Amino acid sequence: MKDFDLQRATSPADAVGRVTVSGGRYFAGGTNLLDLMKNGVEQPSALVDLRRLDLSTISATPAGGVLIEAGVTNSAVANHPLVRSQYPVLSQAILSGATTQLRNMATAGGNLMQRTRCPFFMDTAFDACNKRVPGSGCAARTRFNREHAILGASDSCVAVHPSDMAIALAILGAVVHVYGVDGPRAVAIEDFFALPGDSPERDNTLAPADLITGIELPPSVFARHCWYLKVRDRHSYAFALVSVAAGLDIVDGVIRSAALALGGVAAKPWRVTAAEQELVGDRPGPEAFHRAAESALHGAKPLSQNGFKVDLGKHSVVRALTLAARQQ
Ligand code: SF4
Repeated sequence: MKDFDLQRATSPADAVGRVTVSGGRYFAGGTNLLDLMKNGVEQPSALVDLRRLDLSTISATPAGGVLIEAGVTNSAVANHPLVRSQYPVLSQAILSGATTQLRNMATAGGNLMQRTRCPFFMDTAFDACNKRVPGSGCAARTRFNREHAILGASDSCVAVHPSDMAIALAILGAVVHVYGVDGPRAVAIEDFFALPGDSPERDNTLAPADLITGIELPPSVFARHCWYLKVRDRHSYAFALVSVAAGLDIVDGVIRSAALALGGVAAKPWRVTAAEQELVGDRPGPEAFHRAAESALHGAKPLSQNGFKVDLGKHSVVRALTLAARQQ
C-alpha cells in the first residue's frame, strides 16, 4: 500500500477544507476504501478521518421522518427501533448485505460511496477498465459479465452499483445531506448516483470534497407493506444478482401508491416509476404484479452472459410485491 498522510477532522467544514487542500479521501469505516487501497486501485495521498465528528445519531425529524447521521454504522441503522418500525424495508436491505462484522464497521455515508465490485475494476492486473483508468476500455464487455448491468449501461462501462441500502433508500424518497465547499445542501437520492455514460469514473454527482453528513427519510406510507428481496449466488456475503425493494400503500384492498426499485441491474438504484403507476388503482395480486414486472424490465439490454437477469428480474419483482402485499 502506498504511504499516505492521516489527518483527523474536527468538523464538517474542517474535513472539507482538509480534502480540498490535500486532494485526499474521507475515511470512516474503511470497509471498502481500505480494500481498494490494499489492491492499489485507490492511492490517496491523504486520508481525512471522520470518526471524531459527531455524526453518530438517528433521530426523529419534526416532519415525522428520520435523520440518520452519516457516521452511524450499518448495524445501528438496521436495528434502530425507528427504522425497524417505520422503514422495515431499509432494515431488511442492510441486513442482507455483507457480514455482521462489516456492518458493525461500515457507516451509512460510506455505504452510499461504495464502489462497484466489478472484478476488472478491483484487480489492477487487468489493463482495460474505464472506471479505474479512464480511456483504457472495458474488459467486462467481452469477458466475464454475468453479474453486470442490463439497464442504463454504456459502451464505456457496464458495472452495477453494489449497495443494498441504496435500493431501499430509492423507494423511500431519501434526501442526502451534503457539506461542500459552499456549505450544506441537500441532494435527492434520485439525483445522487450517476449512470456511466462517457464518464464511468464518476459514480455519483458529488464534487470531490463533498462530505455526506446524513440521510433524511420523509414519513413513509409503505411501513406496513414493503419487502426487500435479494437474489444472489449464495445465501450470505454475496452481492445481488438482482434485488428488488418494493413498497405498497394498500387502502380498502386497492393499491393507492407503489414504489419499486431494482438493484444489481444498473450503475444506480433502478427506480421504475412506470411500473409503479401500473399498480396504482389495482387490487394486489398476480395479474397486477406480472404486469408491473414486465414494465420494470422494459428496455433491458443483456450482455453475453447475463440474459438470465431479465427473467430473474421479472420473477423477483413479482415475488417482492407478493411478499410486500402479504405483510400485516
Ligand atoms: Fe471497468 Fe466498468 Fe468495464 Fe467493469 S464494467 S471493467 S468497472 S469499465
